[in-house]
Amino acid sequence: MSFTIARTVDEALAALTAGATPIAGGTDLVVGARHGKAALPANLVAIDRLDELKAVVETKEGVSIGALVSHHAIETHPLLASAYCALADGSALVGSPATRHVGTLGGNIMNASPAMDTGAPLTVMGAEVELRSTRGNRRMPIEQLWTGPGRTSAEPGELCVAIHLPKPGPKANSAYVRLEYRRAMEIAVVGAAAFVALADDGTIAALRVGLTAVAPTILTCNLVEQIGRPVAAAAEHAAQMAMEQCTPISDVRASVGYRRHTVGVMARRAVEAAARRAAGEKIAIPVNRAVGIGAAS
Ligand SMILES: Cc1cc2nc3c(=O)[nH]c(=O)nc-3n(C[C@H](O)[C@H](O)[C@H](O)COP(=O)(O)OP(=O)(O)OC[C@H]3O[C@@H](n4cnc5c(N)ncnc54)[C@H](O)[C@@H]3O)c2cc1C
Repeated sequence: MSFTIARTVDEALAALTAGATPIAGGTDLVVGARHGKAALPANLVAIDRLDELKAVVETKEGVSIGALVSHHAIETHPLLASAYCALADGSALVGSPATRHVGTLGGNIMNASPAMDTGAPLTVMGAEVELRSTRGNRRMPIEQLWTGPGRTSAEPGELCVAIHLPKPGPKANSAYVRLEYRRAMEIAVVGAAAFVALADDGTIAALRVGLTAVAPTILTCNLVEQIGRPVAAAAEHAAQMAMEQCTPISDVRASVGYRRHTVGVMARRAVEAAARRAAGEKIAIPVNRAVGIGAAS
């Protein structure tokens, strides 16, 4: 058994190459072990002191978010909370204030739960994930990262270092909504993210929808056939598509039928909220609270 505290990314990569598992905030890894989901890995490398992975950097192409950026930092970041709203909506819904201060974006995506709240927002916004190992760096579309519940295509020794998002473009924005039974310490029963770009006449210029907790991984659809259609018709189409394409399971939290129905409702609301934002309306983060979706107060 070993526990290493990495002071540099190279130290972390060396520990990973030797077989250690990274631990960032520990809100999945440690809490899961305490609840008996899986034993803690025998060899751990703490990466939480790697300041170079804690920055949000605006680039020519868009924005790069370090893997160790916390959910709290995302929900309160001026650029992310105005131009990349779906991600801020998702982060703002994670757990409690304590969970959001400690839990990281990298941990959320690498944990690969189909119920993760940042996954659907990242896919609809065209995110790429950057992985680093002692062999070098590689980037891939984020939907290629998840291969099943709790499984990723990251190879042994690879550390997630950043998530890159392109600029949304003019008259474009996004939203993420989730069905929840209570307002804190909850995970999504189902959820939906939408990215909408509008043409000058107010019709759809681009529409992508991502669905949470209704398939083994995040489900994403690029609804190019909706280009040129009015927002209301596209939102209705997105709801139908979500209900048809989802493959949910029944568990203690919801039945297949309930999930199938409600994911349609969430998809429609996500498209409507994203379109309002794309048209310039300011809807507070998270949109769930702002427009009364999910658990009542
Ligand atoms: C009370 C509570 C409520 C929660 N509510 C929500 C919720 O509403 N929505 C939601 O989506 N999640 C929720 N979570 C889950 C969790 O908080 C998030 O998934 C969080 O983002 C995990 O980040 P972390 O840094 O704590 O990850 P960790 O627990 O440190 O790591 C999680 C996994 O990712 C790996 N990992 C971490 N960082 C990296 C990296 N940089 N590179 C490679 N692998 C890495 C670890 O090895 C581990 O397998 C909740 C958790 C708790 C305890």
